[in-house]
Amino acid sequence: MATSGVYRNGSNKAPNLRASSSFKSKLPVSNVRRSIPGGATDTVSGRVRVAVRLRPRNAEEMAADADFADCVELQPELKRLKLRKNNWDSDTYEFDEVLTEYSSQKRVYEVVAKPVVESVLDGYNGTVMAYGQTGTGKTYTLGRLGDEDTSARGIMVRSMEDILANISLETDSVSVSYLQIYMETIQDLLNPANDNIPIVEDQRTGDVSLPGATVVEIRDQQTFIELLRLGENHRVAANTKLNTESSRSHAILMVHMKRSVLGGEDEFSTENENRSHSVGNFKPSILRKGKLVVVDLAGSERVHKSGSEGHMLEEAKSINLSLSALGKCINALAENSAHVPIRDSKLTRLLKDSFGGTSRTSLVVTIGPSPRHRAETASTILFGQRAMKVENMLKIKEEFDYKSLSKRLEIELDKLIADNERQQKVYENEVERIRLEAQKRVTEAERNCAEALEEEKVKCQMDYMESIKKLEEKWSVNQHKCVANGEVHMDSGNDEVTKLKALLQNEICLRKAAEEENKNLKLQLVKFSKAELSGGSTNVMNIQEILEEECRQNKKLEEEVRALKSQLSQLSTEANLSRSYLERGRNGNTPAGLDCLSPLNHLQSRDSSNGERASIVNLHEQVGLQKILSLLESEDANVRIHAVKVVANLAAEEANQEKIVEAGGLTSLLMLLRSYEDETIRRIAAGAIANLAMNEANQELIMAQGGICLLAMTASDAEDPQTLRMVAGALANLCGNDKLQMRLRSEGGIKALLGMVRCRHPDVLSQVARGIANFAKCESRASSQGTKHGRSLLIEDGALPWIVQNANNEASLIRRHVELALCHLAQHEVNAKDMISGGALWELVRISRDCSREDIKALARRTLTSSSTFVAEMRRLRIEV
Ligand code: ADP
Ligand code: MG
Repeated sequence: MATSGVYRNGSNKAPNLRASSSFKSKLPVSNVRRSIPGGATDTVSGRVRVAVRLRPRNAEEMAADADFADCVELQPELKRLKLRKNNWDSDTYEFDEVLTEYSSQKRVYEVVAKPVVESVLDGYNGTVMAYGQTGTGKTYTLGRLGDEDTSARGIMVRSMEDILANISLETDSVSVSYLQIYMETIQDLLNPANDNIPIVEDQRTGDVSLPGATVVEIRDQQTFIELLRLGENHRVAANTKLNTESSRSHAILMVHMKRSVLGGEDEFSTENENRSHSVGNFKPSILRKGKLVVVDLAGSERVHKSGSEGHMLEEAKSINLSLSALGKCINALAENSAHVPIRDSKLTRLLKDSFGGTSRTSLVVTIGPSPRHRAETASTILFGQRAMKVENMLKIKEEFDYKSLSKRLEIELDKLIADNERQQKVYENEVERIRLEAQKRVTEAERNCAEALEEEKVKCQMDYMESIKKLEEKWSVNQHKCVANGEVHMDSGNDEVTKLKALLQNEICLRKAAEEENKNLKLQLVKFSKAELSGGSTNVMNIQEILEEECRQNKKLEEEVRALKSQLSQLSTEANLSRSYLERGRNGNTPAGLDCLSPLNHLQSRDSSNGERASIVNLHEQVGLQKILSLLESEDANVRIHAVKVVANLAAEEANQEKIVEAGGLTSLLMLLRSYEDETIRRIAAGAIANLAMNEANQELIMAQGGICLLAMTASDAEDPQTLRMVAGALANLCGNDKLQMRLRSEGGIKALLGMVRCRHPDVLSQVARGIANFAKCESRASSQGTKHGRSLLIEDGALPWIVQNANNEASLIRRHVELALCHLAQHEVNAKDMISGGALWELVRISRDCSREDIKALARRTLTSSSTFVAEMRRLRIEV
């Protein structure tokens, strides 16, 4: 069949073999079209790759064949092998790889197995198989463990190294089974008891599997080495037991790969990549299930030699059966035969996918150099050549990994539930925290607001009170002005103006005259000075004469005074004598009554000095009360003044008051008020009356004798503050009498009192305030006793504005009286309305808050809270006391 000098298979080689990708190169994954799920649909062509490996001569061959050349000659650079027929003829064969006797195990792995391993890692099935005569190095090539020399590691060891280096132990898994086929039984090399494992074929997919075989998960290289060693031991033991050689059995290592490729990792999912990531990448991952089958076949010589070497027929038949079935299948496939007898043997059934299936298959045919085994070598080469024609259609084995997706989703879900719960808790805590914070802030804000409001309220109230007060003051001033203007108009203003003009004119004339006089005097002075300077003594003489004349006049006057005094003394003596006489005649005792003059009381006249008082006492003692009283009506003004001073001083003493009144002194004093316009007399008389008015009985007498009217008159006429003080004091005393209330009002006493405030002297104001306070107190008493009805006469007489104005007078005495007056007025509901409209409420509130005298303060508060009108008004104005 072989043709010398020509390529045996050269012309037969399919053109696509050269066109297909390099044996060494990895399959271009991007060219692989996949259809998920259900495994691959589109396929890539993948011819069975065949390398030939020549074993170096062994010791025996070295010795025996020393004189002979090798039966093969290799041309690795041309990938050719020449098989010598004889010394001059040879057949040439071309292989995918030609590995010389010097090829390292590493190189053999890289050329023969590495591409297959890489395909398996990509999810394809892969087969690496060694075919050859016993002793040519199949086991050396595939199964060396490299214990003693690591560089001798065979394909099985190196494949696992590569696999483990390229997978993730977390997501991927590798497991192995190790079996042998001997006499058409499948034995488990990892568990020798398992010596008849059935092949199971999936009817639907046609996939074969060995469910009975031990499958060991590999996680590290050492475990795998131990497994290989264990398997090898079992193989040896089994063969010893069966009295066979290992070369008679087929050893099969199956490596199952499961690789998980996340959805979105490749082109298939790129379009959904972003979306899938955003939802947590819940695309099912893709599960790639590659299977690597490494087959160390029994020696190929058995096909031909078993019978001839006297082996048991059954055994030979069995060995033959599997190997010859493989050869037949490969022939059929190489020739594109319609029938491929796969089912003929267990080996071909197990390798169903490796030849003519979907696996990437790499075959290494091993040959020896010895010319003695030339026939075996030729047969091996032909097997390899035929195998090169077998075309496989590679299919990726991948499917969606719904199981792991479900597991992942479950984990994700649990994680989310936990997260959610955690976040919920955090959220609740945060809400609670914010709620508490908000509550705190609201409370704080409310408190601040309330405080600010309270402050603002008090401030507003005070401002309000202030402005009301000011307005009232303004109003009162305006009213006064109006009244004044009105009066001017009523009193025919023109006349007044004319009079004033005349007066002014007069004044101007007088001023001019005075200026003239002044000028004259100045001239005279100049003249005089000149005369003096010129030594003239006429003027000096004149002035001396004038002075002497003045002195004479003075002496004359002194004489007169002396005469008067002696006259007065004479009169006094007469009076004393007559009184002594009378007294003696009455009770034969010393005169009583006015003999003890007490010091002047608080309303003592300022006109009385100590010296005067002494002389007055003397006078009183000398002349007696009656005489003094009679002197009040003396024609001589000086006498009258003296007399009234005496009486006033006497009246300052309580003990004298009754006597003075009895002696008609009160009447005389009132008469003085009525008749005389002399200010001094009036002042002193008023002071005396005021002192007498301290006594309740006298008060009624004063009233009965028209004293109120007289005092009122004096009050309106007088200008002197001291006079007014006395009058006001007298009236104030009268105001303290319960029985005089009506008369005081009807006779103008109250009005007079109020009228005196025009004089702004604090002494006067103080007396006025005292009078008002006394009056208010009496009224209040009468009201509570039920003897008085209706609103206060003070209010009736218009006292309220002044009271309100002076409630906060800076003079404490005035302030106290006015404060008390307000409190008394406020005690009667009937006054409340006027008081409110008159602004007295604000003053009362102020008193209840600020008064330095606790009793008045308490009284004001009590008064305010007991009046329903005030309470209502305060509520309306939101005032609190
Ligand atoms: P087979 O498995 O084909 O029966 P083996 O692998 O058992 O053959 O090899 C037979 C002998 O040849 C062994 O001692 C082995 O060490 C040796 N041998 C095989 N191939 C080589 C090689 N390439 N280099 C060196 N020694 C080899
Ligand atoms: Mg072997």
